[in-house]
Amino acid sequence: MLRASRPKPPGRLEGIARWGRILGLGSLVLLSGAEATGGSSPPPGGGSVLPDHYVAAEQVFVPWGLRPTQRLTPEGERTFASAWERVSLRHDSREIQFAGRRVFLSEGVKAHQGRLWLSRADVTSLLHPLLRPLEFAKEARVVQRIWLDAGHGGKDRGTHNDPLALSEKELTLDIALRLEQILTAQGFEVMQTRREDVYVDIGERGERSRVADLLVSIHFNAAGNPEARGTETYVLTPAGQRSTGDHRTDPGDELGAEPGNQTDAWNAILGYQIHDALVENLGTVDRGLKRARFAVLRLTTVPAVLIEAGFLSNEVEATEIASPTRRGEIAESMAHGIVAYANLVLSTQP
Ligand SMILES: [Zn+2]
Repeated sequence: MLRASRPKPPGRLEGIARWGRILGLGSLVLLSGAEATGGSSPPPGGGSVLPDHYVAAEQVFVPWGLRPTQRLTPEGERTFASAWERVSLRHDSREIQFAGRRVFLSEGVKAHQGRLWLSRADVTSLLHPLLRPLEFAKEARVVQRIWLDAGHGGKDRGTHNDPLALSEKELTLDIALRLEQILTAQGFEVMQTRREDVYVDIGERGERSRVADLLVSIHFNAAGNPEARGTETYVLTPAGQRSTGDHRTDPGDELGAEPGNQTDAWNAILGYQIHDALVENLGTVDRGLKRARFAVLRLTTVPAVLIEAGFLSNEVEATEIASPTRRGEIAESMAHGIVAYANLVLSTQP
């Protein structure tokens, strides 16, 4: 079912308004490994010893002006908030709520001695850029050229819904062409992996996008569970960290740095901006900002995101996506997120 409210047309000032509020000063002070272990008492509930790369949530958030809003609840939950931002954490969970959106960490939050603790890598690669983008201004790439990557094509049909005659390769191209029109009208230069139904090698896509300032790869989803629906947004998993779908404690040797890891901080910011815009404007189920090592994300060198813009395996969502009006809304929502990101990058520049 379509929501009554249409997505707002992208406006270049809105990203600045949203992010200007949180572009305060403040630098990250991380505990040393010895401090982070926080003494020798066993964690409440009798968990294992706290790993020494964990840092107390207060040490992360309070210097940035986010204070705990309550004591640790019996369920192991705690929220840190400023006037503008809000982050909720839960013991033993990799999922946090960041400004109302689901965001996935690589490692679980831990409760220990009445406090919550975070992996230092999650702070560095995710929370720091999301909360203080200004501190990554030097690595920022002002957005002029945008590379759109319509997923699949040619012999690679992608996922499909045969009763509704929907093929992922056709839908991704439809969205990419709509998005190109909107972004071109906004003054951006748009480049595409494909503008017709042709097969493009998976390895080629990321490499070709390196001439642009950001990459948006467009996909639709499918699941064995027909109830599954909603929007997922992926950015590249940082080196040494676990992807969201990886539940092994030892992921083995798949953890090295990829070309796409050059822009980890801005990947996170781009991913959040686009995910937030999609869920907000489309009113879809928020399945979260996630991390994966998809080839297109690994092989680019510019900030990049892969969007799963809805489930063709869900009757309701697939029926919506079959409507050109809805596909226009999806493209507009993506544009909204891209423009918010572009404005945020600009606002960090002197
Ligand atoms: Zn796909």
